[in-house]
Amino acid sequence: MRRSLLPGCSRRSVIKGLAAGLGAALVHPAFVLGQDAFDLAIEGQNLLAAGKKAEAVEVLTRATALDPENDFAWGLLGMARYHQGELREALEAFKKAVSLNPDDSYSRMMIERISQKPLPPKATEAKPMTPLEQKAKAEEEAMAEQLKGQAGLGYRIRRLVLDAGHGGFDSGAVGPSKLLEKDLTLDLAQRTAKVLGSANAGLKLFFTRTGDYYVPLSARTTIANQYRADLFLSFHINANENPKPHGLETFFCSEEASSKEAERVAEFENSVLKFDEKELTAKGYLDIEDILFRFERRRYWQAGDKAAGLLQDGLAKGLPMHNRGVQSANFYVLRRARMPSILLETGFISNPENEALLQKDDMRQKIAASIAQGVLALADKGV
Ligand SMILES: [Zn+2]
Repeated sequence: MRRSLLPGCSRRSVIKGLAAGLGAALVHPAFVLGQDAFDLAIEGQNLLAAGKKAEAVEVLTRATALDPENDFAWGLLGMARYHQGELREALEAFKKAVSLNPDDSYSRMMIERISQKPLPPKATEAKPMTPLEQKAKAEEEAMAEQLKGQAGLGYRIRRLVLDAGHGGFDSGAVGPSKLLEKDLTLDLAQRTAKVLGSANAGLKLFFTRTGDYYVPLSARTTIANQYRADLFLSFHINANENPKPHGLETFFCSEEASSKEAERVAEFENSVLKFDEKELTAKGYLDIEDILFRFERRRYWQAGDKAAGLLQDGLAKGLPMHNRGVQSANFYVLRRARMPSILLETGFISNPENEALLQKDDMRQKIAASIAQGVLALADKGV
């Protein structure tokens, strides 16, 4: 069982968790009671993480009934209710958590967050529905039922962010004949945009950079989030200490890397993070963001997986380069995007043959055309 704890969870709850690991004979009866509630709370947390919100509410309600003093369970119940859209009940649960543990800054923040918007009327205050409202509700439910069977986010791509990796002092990877990744990524992003523009598909395009300057990783996704983009496309060129590896790879974001090699690629692309002042100074803020979007993110990453497959297929078919397939890893630049996000590694700059190909204008045009074709197919299909 995973024992990850919410930030702000009281020391008492943690002690209960530790007590769970001790023999029952050593533990005070009150702790035994609390221990069961704690295990239920963890079960609820896992259900919540798996997107099983209704089941999480059920388990966490049992946990709070078993141990009404367990602030950890109350905080989680608040979160489960919040994700169920039950704001009034969520607020009550968060308040209970804070009354039991005034240090629970996460529940405090959620109370503030919920209180900023007017709460929906209580069930007893609701007026009886008119026949038209009843019909609308029935239609809405039927549509939700229909959507349930279909994986994906159910929207078409209209707004696209093109993110040319690296820039300025961050040259990215450097090839044996001194070709720079940052120049290739900008060129490819701009060529892709041109092809997409001339396709007249009604796509709105945004760039994270349009010249040779440094843009922090955190700013790149912030830009995409502010543009309310439907897809984030990050352009990169791969590199390895060994000159042999070559070919095309498309990545989507995941908590665990799909392979050791994928992990290495993410490590390299994340390495510029040390220059990211915002990340360093606003660490606490980012952590909270991370928790808040933990559930939402899961759906974006799934959609990213599907989109990456489609793009990689297009690239592999259209280009004379080895198909390394779709991989996933924890890329910082993808992680915070509130939309499906993909990172392309079109060739290895460290491989002399790939570098020579990337040096050619017509090859870069071909790569851009393949990417654009994949994007257009994706825009048509939806995510
Ligand atoms: Zn890169």
